[in-house]
Amino acid sequence: MATARTGTKRPEGPPSSSSSSGGPPAKKGHWSLGLLDTMKDPSSQVYTDDRIVIIKDKYPKARFHYLVLPREQIAKLKTLKPSHLDLLRHMEEVGDKVIKEAIGEEGLTYRLGYHAVPSMSHLHLHAISQDFDSPSLKTKKHWNSFTSAYFVDSKEVIDQLEKEGKVDTSSKNPDALLKLPLRCHVCKLELGNIPKLKAHIVKHIKKS
Ligand code: AMP
Ligand code: ZN
Repeated sequence: MATARTGTKRPEGPPSSSSSSGGPPAKKGHWSLGLLDTMKDPSSQVYTDDRIVIIKDKYPKARFHYLVLPREQIAKLKTLKPSHLDLLRHMEEVGDKVIKEAIGEEGLTYRLGYHAVPSMSHLHLHAISQDFDSPSLKTKKHWNSFTSAYFVDSKEVIDQLEKEGKVDTSSKNPDALLKLPLRCHVCKLELGNIPKLKAHIVKHIKKS
């Protein structure tokens, strides 16, 4: 695990608390602002337009893992207003195209969604293939953050914003979701630990 410039441990997945989930705003150079740097790095960008940038996730949790970021400064889901609906639809539409094209003929499924409580600042939509075949997927938190209700589909976020005028994920009890037993996302079999889980899930990946 890499060490932050500030000397604090830098999580590759959701930490138990972070600047984006509450507390004081992160200072310049803090690890939680790393997406803002990566957004500006041409070698990480896979798509840009006047409203969004799509980057490769630096610690991908699957064979294909992208982050769709708005250029507009939007800190988190809670900041969203109905005026952002068009932007969210654009993020979903382009994210969908980019991952679909990248996956090509590999026959992998994918999902587009947000973490209920992200570790990183600046709104980001995950576009992630469902193989979860990646060395960066190392912990129960990583697993549950992408395979439980902690992962909120883009459509659900858009729907909630349309109906309720805001997005609030607190009723999902996100902390408890991260502690759920390890279960295969395809056949629901419970596995005792991450190595066993990882050995199991590759069996579900279609051979092309
Ligand atoms: P989350 O905030 O939990 O929705 O997820 C943040 C995602 O950002 C994780 O999938 C990390 O692997 C990824 N990540 C962390 N730091 C960087 C960075 N500097 N550049 C690109 N991706 C990053
Ligand atoms: Zn299974």
